[in-house]
Amino acid sequence: MTNNYETVMGLEVHVELKTKTKIFCNCANKFGDKPNTNTCPVCLGLPGAIPVLNEKVLDLAVTAGLATNCEISRIGKQDRKNYFYPDLAKGYQISQDENPICHDGYLDIETSRGKKRIRINRMHIEEDAGKLIHEEGLGSLVDNNRAGTPLIEIVSEPDLRSAEEVLAYLQKLRAILTYTDVSDAKMNEGSFRCDVNLSVREAGKEEFGTRVEMKNLNSFQSIQRAIEYETARHIKAVESGEELIQETRGYSQDTRKTYSMRSKEDAADYRFIPDPDLMPIIITDEKIEEIKESLPELPDARKARYTEEYGLSNYDAEQLTSSIEVATFFEETVKNGANPKSVANLIITEIFRLSSPEDFDVNISPAAFAETIEFVDNGRINLGSAKKIIEIIFENPEKTPESIIFEEDLEQINDRTILGKIIDDVILHSKKAVDEYRSGKEKALQAVIGQVMGKTKGKANPQLTIDILKEKLG
Ligand SMILES: [Zn+2]
Repeated sequence: MTNNYETVMGLEVHVELKTKTKIFCNCANKFGDKPNTNTCPVCLGLPGAIPVLNEKVLDLAVTAGLATNCEISRIGKQDRKNYFYPDLAKGYQISQDENPICHDGYLDIETSRGKKRIRINRMHIEEDAGKLIHEEGLGSLVDNNRAGTPLIEIVSEPDLRSAEEVLAYLQKLRAILTYTDVSDAKMNEGSFRCDVNLSVREAGKEEFGTRVEMKNLNSFQSIQRAIEYETARHIKAVESGEELIQETRGYSQDTRKTYSMRSKEDAADYRFIPDPDLMPIIITDEKIEEIKESLPELPDARKARYTEEYGLSNYDAEQLTSSIEVATFFEETVKNGANPKSVANLIITEIFRLSSPEDFDVNISPAAFAETIEFVDNGRINLGSAKKIIEIIFENPEKTPESIIFEEDLEQINDRTILGKIIDDVILHSKKAVDEYRSGKEKALQAVIGQVMGKTKGKANPQLTIDILKEKLG
């Protein structure tokens, strides 16, 4: 369907910065506290209250800029962006119009088509608004704890062409922000939020199609589905000659559809004016050098190290470096003595099934995980049992791999004689599959192996089972 069309996307990512206090006052910058407990006249937007910029916000913005190959502005200002929201008491948000702190950077992403460079147009600082809470029976309430939370907005160029590229870009950006400790970048807590600007044009055309901005995309899955839905909607409109309008659209997880929210504002509607209460921003060369020196090992460097040091594939290394939590868990497990390739395999296949890399929260210690992997590598249990152990520990973290092997009777059957007898019995009762295999159908062996696994409650040594079967079936 999309062969004759090209989807063109650019992203606006809002990131809450990991500062102790808010951007213009001393209130705590904390998620999850009782509503309206972290507020003061400044972040409530009361008349006469004077904002003072938190210097840490600049440090973190410059850190994020340097880590994404941006140029850093030496002089900046902050502007009032006017709009009316019930959770924005001042009637304007303090943001940056011209002179963003960082500009002209890029990120390299890895997709199934290889490496691609995505350009970053700009990165500016701004304050977050409060939050509306809609309560049945109580109406709409405002929680101002979030008002004045420091943000950076990272705007990419329209270089993205598929949902896969968008997700790879977000994953890389998220990795960089967590490695550098700029943000905890949790999508489920709203500290990492993404708006997608999307248009569709006929392949080969220079000019862009009508652009929509999609908001309320609060998971990687929603982003992917919204892009797919919206692309199909645009193509249909183009083919039927229907006119698309430039607008802001939301996405509903329930209907899996996008819906119109409002017509898109133009920059002129915001009536930007420099905020007279705030001093100009000056960033010195010394400051930039100091932050450059303090940058940690970034995801791309770590990925290169994993491929060299541990012999991992590009793909595996990319997965494992996608967040600092995953990378730390991997390295801690290896430090506990487990084989790096086995660790990588089990994290990507099993641990990611139980906890996604974006919201990585594992309930198993690196030591217990390493021990489980070693039991597989030395033949005491098989891979299926290892997965069972990991699942049980996720539910009951007080248990050890050793105790679970005992309780669940998971010890692998490595004894040729014992296994041989079981296999003789299976062969006797699986005439059809055996005949098929003997007549040249290699695949039929899987059915027989399945029978052996069933009989041994999954404890048979898989390789030994195959060897014995092949001997016996000649
Ligand atoms: Zn405050």
